[in-house]
Amino acid sequence: MPENPTHVLIVDDDMALLDSLSDYLEISGYQPKIAPDAESALEILKHNAIQVVIVDIILPGISGLELTEIIKKNHNVDVILMTGHQMEHSYEDAIKKGASDFIFKPFRFEEIHLRIQRVQRERELTTERNRILEKLKELATIDGLTKLFNSRHFYNQLQLEVDRTIRYNHKLSLLLLDIDNFKHFNDSYGHLEGDKVLKRIGDIIKICLRKMDSAYRYGGEEFTIILPETSAKEAIVVAQRIRTTIEGEAFIPSGKETGVVTVSIGVSEYIPKENIADFVKRSDSAMYDSKRMGRNTVSLILSENPA
Ligand code: GH3
Ligand code: MG
Ligand code: MG
Repeated sequence: MPENPTHVLIVDDDMALLDSLSDYLEISGYQPKIAPDAESALEILKHNAIQVVIVDIILPGISGLELTEIIKKNHNVDVILMTGHQMEHSYEDAIKKGASDFIFKPFRFEEIHLRIQRVQRERELTTERNRILEKLKELATIDGLTKLFNSRHFYNQLQLEVDRTIRYNHKLSLLLLDIDNFKHFNDSYGHLEGDKVLKRIGDIIKICLRKMDSAYRYGGEEFTIILPETSAKEAIVVAQRIRTTIEGEAFIPSGKETGVVTVSIGVSEYIPKENIADFVKRSDSAMYDSKRMGRNTVSLILSENPA
């Protein structure tokens, strides 16, 4: 018997067929279960991990088509419908109810074996395709090094947050953070050690944020942080917390003396009607104010044309 045999449930009121098909499937390496009607089939599905259900279309009480619909609504399994009446039900009916395949009686047992294998192969392919799609979605929004969101996702999210801010008349703040003298760090300790710093700073930022905040790797050694429902005054507190945590962190490249890393941060609060490029530009200008003031500093620019 295979290591993980497929659990198959056969639903038919023809006891002779139930028994012989069940025996055949067992010999072929499956773990079959049988049910003479829809009610007992649903009961078995409730208590057993079944992967494939083979259902006769004509059943006493709830019909095979109805049963298929109920099964597909409540269980993640494949259904193969059997029918003895070629003309009565169309393939489309079966597929519409969610069946994965359709087989005409009488059939050779080898044929049902092949159909089960095909249905399972299709399921594997679908699972694999979904996994790849998820991965692609992740690659499209996540920065590989820091695991923060990337800059493309930043602009999408910022637009969403700005729209929300306008709709609800709430506050929204934005931080732009740039590592100080990072070129010098790379030159002293090497690019790989620099990458470790970027990753660690990403982790620190994450730790310092609330659930609704989001952080992005904006560029090489620049990060942005969107703070919804946050005034400039509150954003400065967050920025200072990030700045002092990074300053207090010992970035020690292996075998070297302690490396202190600092960051300059710019803060801006959204001004109604401002476009997002200007909003980002204000955080950027504020960050440059911090650089001019000697770095390792937080600065704020409140209005578009500071007096
Ligand atoms: P400042 O305080 O004015 O920001 O000085 P700086 O040296 O940080 O600024 P500059 O813009 O001159 O240099 C940025 C440096 O950031 C240069 C580059 O080597 C480094 N950098 C950018 N992206 C990466 C990266 O992905 N990994 C590493 N290790 N370094 C990076
Ligand atoms: Mg920079
Ligand atoms: Mg820098």
